[in-house]
Amino acid sequence: MTRGLAFVAMLMAGAAAAAPNPTERAKPGSPEPVMRAEIRDMPQAGIYRVGMTLSEDAPVWIFLRSGLARGSDASWRPEGWTVLTPGVELTRIGHHDALIAKDGGDLPRNIVIQFRPYTGLLEADYQPAMDLGDGSVAIFSDHFTMRPAPSIAAVQQLGQDWTPLPDYEGGHPVVSFRGDGFFDGSDYPGRFSLEEASYVIHGDIVPTVGPYMSTIIDAELPTWLGTQIEAETPQVLDFYAERLGPHESGTPELLISWNGPTPGTSSLGGSVIGDQIVMQIEGDMLVEESRGLGANARQFIAHESAHFWLGNLVDYGRPGDAWSTEGGADLMALRAGEAIDPEVGPRFAAAVKQQAWGSCLQGIEGGPLATAPERGLHSSFYGCGLLFSLVAEKAAQEAGGDFFTFWSDLIEANREGGTVSAEEWIAHYEAIGGSAAAAAFMRTIAFDRGGDFNTLSALLAYAGVSSPAGPRAAPSS
Ligand SMILES: [Zn+2]
Repeated sequence: MTRGLAFVAMLMAGAAAAAPNPTERAKPGSPEPVMRAEIRDMPQAGIYRVGMTLSEDAPVWIFLRSGLARGSDASWRPEGWTVLTPGVELTRIGHHDALIAKDGGDLPRNIVIQFRPYTGLLEADYQPAMDLGDGSVAIFSDHFTMRPAPSIAAVQQLGQDWTPLPDYEGGHPVVSFRGDGFFDGSDYPGRFSLEEASYVIHGDIVPTVGPYMSTIIDAELPTWLGTQIEAETPQVLDFYAERLGPHESGTPELLISWNGPTPGTSSLGGSVIGDQIVMQIEGDMLVEESRGLGANARQFIAHESAHFWLGNLVDYGRPGDAWSTEGGADLMALRAGEAIDPEVGPRFAAAVKQQAWGSCLQGIEGGPLATAPERGLHSSFYGCGLLFSLVAEKAAQEAGGDFFTFWSDLIEANREGGTVSAEEWIAHYEAIGGSAAAAAFMRTIAFDRGGDFNTLSALLAYAGVSSPAGPRAAPSS
């Protein structure tokens, strides 16, 4: 199940952004892939080649993922990619990176591109490659997937979503890796093919394989942080499994790259894709041990780990409904953090709740949560989602359970369909004895008008949850 995978970029505690993940494919499961990409390592370190085999004649093939380099309005591919096949050009058409034939005809069916892995971050998409230190790198397979388009003009008319293009006959693209240096953590080294998006490692770095997960941590990461993460992440997964039952993501992999001691910062970024948690960590503030920043890293990993249940077992459906799983993952992570560090955990939770109040308010003053993606306010999913989750937790506790039983019931009821819609979430809150007035306020905030300080205050009051609004957040009139 790939629909609804959450993409997260998080800087410091709480400030986060999510974007819908364009994983929807034409005709998944069709026998012949629409294209194959085969990646090989080259004798020179850091140089790779990808051979594209296209199944159809078309003048334009677009990359399914065409996010821009973060902080720029440019594509990242031209920086390290060189097309070796004569007559073929890598270009940008509207919102999409594309290959075209220079003579305006159909592309050749076989195209070879040489590339250096791009380790910069993208806007609202996965990092193309992660530097893991000592010459090892993790390459994201899905950036090599393509589909045909009938003309340049047709691509020019597209928004970011390419699904309006005419359908094609082929099945899901397949990305293969060939070379002794490649491994994907489970398949045998050097030779494997993927239909699902995944990071694939190339290099000598050795994973630490435990019963709950395998970890690959950049050797340069500050030792205290690596030690904490290796020790605690299995505890977090165990904490969830005891309460929610097993996830179905196999043995998860945790990949962490250290982007260096950038002065004056402490930043964590990352996401979950399939059975992998990937993280980028940087900043000089993280060089010395800090319990507060340690709690922040714990929260981040615990949030991502929760997506093996909320996200992978069941997703949230429409892009505007991501508050249910994002807020749910945040609250589960806080509860795991309180169990692991009973001293710092509760203080950290109080700070996160207060931050959630602010980011929720910001997201709902201009409209309902359902329209937050169009308004560029993805972070309100986390804030409002956490407040709504506290509301659900309160009702679940009064019914003799907790926030985990709230979700395990939802997962059981919807495991087959694979989606818990926002409306199903609110209806479940009512079904376990939640306040009808609080449910009405949540519907207004999520679907109808949005809200303000008074709406949020009323919601929490009806739900019996104490307000985390700080003194400076009081209304001016
Ligand atoms: Zn998330």
